[in-house]
Amino acid sequence: MSKLDGKIALVTGGTSGIGLATTKRFVAEGASVFITGRRQTELDAAVKVIGKNVTGVQSDVSNLADLDRLFAKIKQEQGHLDVVFANAGGGEIAPLGSITEEHFDKTFNTNVKGLLFTVQKALPLLSEGASIILNASTASTVGTPAFSVYSATKAAVRSFARNWTLDLKGRHIRVNAISPGVVPTPGYNLLGLSDEQVQAFVDSQASTIPLGRVGTPDEIAKAVVFLASDDSSFVNGIELFVDGGMAQI
Ligand code: NAD
Repeated sequence: MSKLDGKIALVTGGTSGIGLATTKRFVAEGASVFITGRRQTELDAAVKVIGKNVTGVQSDVSNLADLDRLFAKIKQEQGHLDVVFANAGGGEIAPLGSITEEHFDKTFNTNVKGLLFTVQKALPLLSEGASIILNASTASTVGTPAFSVYSATKAAVRSFARNWTLDLKGRHIRVNAISPGVVPTPGYNLLGLSDEQVQAFVDSQASTIPLGRVGTPDEIAKAVVFLASDDSSFVNGIELFVDGGMAQI
């Protein structure tokens, strides 16, 4: 018996990186998965790569009308949801002194507002015993140069997990945050750095990680499967760090 047999799951930002790797694992464990992304072409490509038991719905998490359309489709096609991985997100480099209103709004609208309304709008569809996993980051607890706005969004995400366990008390719905460490994905090319700068950053980080290397999207996906499945039936409100020990020392 697979860990997610017959479960219906949603992965926002399922077209790339950690979201794509997690969707592959979810499907391999027996789930049917809805994935979202902003661009139809990337969505279609991801659906093709995943191959089966996946439905792509074009939607921007920061757009509430898009979210309404997404959940209307899930309701119509499946009627309920067992797992929500609120994963869509990202950030860009901006040191204090150079932070613009546009940078602030874009980062908070995706990582905080989008994640909040993804979960809130999913609530009517969530089954008793459902699992919600919020993608935070080690940035929720440690400082990083020029990354304060992103880090603040992830501290908010971690706080949501703590509080929403209380708001959902009585429905037996678990809410946990997962905090990846350094995991090179296509998202690193959106930071505002050149390829060489990204590589230099990744190399410099590896030596600070107790395991001596950066992580892979699939290593995050395995931990998300744990939080999504009955293996974590008594795990609630935590922040699960999957970071090779980087933020634990
Ligand atoms: P990625 O760029 O490869 O994937 C991000 C996904 O989110 C893409 O599918 C993208 O299309 C989608 N997305 C972005 N903005 C969106 C929006 N407004 N609406 C809908 N979809 C949107 O990056 P990734 O590294 O896989 O990041 C996934 C999540 O993991 C993010 O929340 C990120 O903050 C978090 N995270 C990543 C790392 C890391 O090292 N890669 C570390 C900690 C946390």
